[in-house]
Amino acid sequence: MGNTMRHLVFVEKGRLEWREAPTPTLQGDDEAIVRPLAAARCDLDTAILFGRAPIPGPFAIGHEFVGEILEVGNAVRGFRPGDRVVVPFQISCGECGYCKRGFTGNCENVPPGAMYGLGASRGDWGGAMADAVRVPFASNMLVRIPDGISLDAIASVSDNVVDGWRTVAPHLHDLPGADVLVVAGGAWSVGLYAVAVALASGASKVDYLDTDRARLDLAEKLGARAIDGPPPKRVGRYAVTVDASSEPTGLACALCSTKPEGICTSVGIYFSETTPVPLNEMFYSGITFKTGRAHSRAGIEPVLKLISSGKLRPELITTRLAAWDDAPEAMFDVSPKVIVTRTA
Ligand SMILES: [Zn+2]
Ligand SMILES: [Zn+2]
Repeated sequence: MGNTMRHLVFVEKGRLEWREAPTPTLQGDDEAIVRPLAAARCDLDTAILFGRAPIPGPFAIGHEFVGEILEVGNAVRGFRPGDRVVVPFQISCGECGYCKRGFTGNCENVPPGAMYGLGASRGDWGGAMADAVRVPFASNMLVRIPDGISLDAIASVSDNVVDGWRTVAPHLHDLPGADVLVVAGGAWSVGLYAVAVALASGASKVDYLDTDRARLDLAEKLGARAIDGPPPKRVGRYAVTVDASSEPTGLACALCSTKPEGICTSVGIYFSETTPVPLNEMFYSGITFKTGRAHSRAGIEPVLKLISSGKLRPELITTRLAAWDDAPEAMFDVSPKVIVTRTA
């Protein structure tokens, strides 16, 4: 590869452009250079592209990807050029106290929030829609793709599939056969991945609330019961609830719909300083509330295992599979999941 490469830049609301940039090079012995082969649009990218998130351009966009290793440093263990890998969206060392506990999204050896595809505010690691990406801590960051899995199917495992997984899978492990409610509408694909993972993990019932007909139909196709309409105060009572609405009314609905001693996870980013929560109701039902980013690296292996078993099929949630060169247009598709691939 030459000294320059092409990457996709988010310029401003409604505008993406292919631009030239310096090709990344190894800057340490435990680093790798990966060529993205398939990349996905994260639900946060969707919000940014349509001007719903206060993150101004220009910056190189994209942080969900799988690819092929082009080059490795001398100290990289377990990987060599030609290997096909999933790259976590967050930068994590794999060796600090947080990483060892599985909290790879809060790695202590990188600045807070370090990740691909959000520009200088997250450390300028470059975007996933590029000809090459530099991966630090490569021996620990990279995850080998098991044989027999299509790259296009797992492009979103770096982030959104893991995000859906963490809202339901660990809780269904503790409470086998629990019922699940997903209050959707904000994080378009994460809500649907949560449905698919819940059903793959043995949920007895999955209810999916949304106002968008196409997403409701997709949730139903996956095996959920679709409930059409805005969030009421309470849908019912569920042991496991998910707020993927990114709306205070949706968050309150998920919290009030959680059974006593149940667990509610919110994947939405609430950009305002304060967001009301029904704390009195939560107190008396004694529920656990979890918010925060998914821990990408820690979740990738269990998710790949679920996919390898055939129980989880993330490709069912891909609503637009586009050719790599078409990314500037395809990324604006108004459907839950866009994946661009070099093989289409
Ligand atoms: Zn993301
Ligand atoms: Zn770490």
